[in-house]
Amino acid sequence: MWTENKELKEMSEIVFDLFFPRRCPICDDIVPLFTYSKGKIVRGGLIHRECAQKPRLVKGATCMKCGKPLIKTEEDEEYCLDCKKHGHYFDRGFSLFEYRSISGSIYRFKYEGRREYSDYYADITAKRLGKRLKNLGIEAIIPVPMYDRKRSDRGYNQAEVYSEKLSERLGIPTCPDVIKRVKSTVPMKGLDARARRNNLKKAFNIVRNDVKFKCILIIDDIYTTGSTVDEIAHEFRMTGTDRIYVLTLAIGQTT
Ligand SMILES: [Zn+2]
Ligand SMILES: [Zn+2]
Repeated sequence: MWTENKELKEMSEIVFDLFFPRRCPICDDIVPLFTYSKGKIVRGGLIHRECAQKPRLVKGATCMKCGKPLIKTEEDEEYCLDCKKHGHYFDRGFSLFEYRSISGSIYRFKYEGRREYSDYYADITAKRLGKRLKNLGIEAIIPVPMYDRKRSDRGYNQAEVYSEKLSERLGIPTCPDVIKRVKSTVPMKGLDARARRNNLKKAFNIVRNDVKFKCILIIDDIYTTGSTVDEIAHEFRMTGTDRIYVLTLAIGQTT
């Protein structure tokens, strides 16, 4: 039964990809549906082989709090400069890519309808961080919510799309309806840390009082100062959530 379902799923995926060719998350050209490998015709991948080397994964010395790669002069420190200056409501952040090496991809994923990139992002996440995340005892994945009107204008919330794909791979449920964005905030680009925090005051509301989580994972696309995830973590802290982790697709370096 299970195999049949799996085959059915794979067939419908092939048919879907036939009509809506999958694009490479790095160069945005079409990824072939089938390729020829070791004398056999096999399903094409999610990314061109030559493009797979381009994004830089976060590795080496990272901040014990936010997960940001530490710069040379900080390498012996536990925390980055930002985390030394400001506390956070979450316990620990993880991030996958160095922002600059994947920024174009994330832009298209957010604004140009490239939802299919999420398969690639989730695959890499599961491969790199899956074991670690599964061992944390996370009960729910919480994507950073988008203001309702903005979501219907854009058609989807990229954090939610990525969360769903990751949820399938980790076997941890995603719960996008627990917290809502109740305030339409101005774009954060260009705002400093203090202005970002002010902009987000009372921006989120937990709307489900019937569910209580002890341990959650908040998911967003990019980590900058952490003010958005902090605001959400704060809301959950107030309902008694003990452990709060954060996962973002990309993160910058300490400035
Ligand atoms: Zn490519
Ligand atoms: Zn940090």
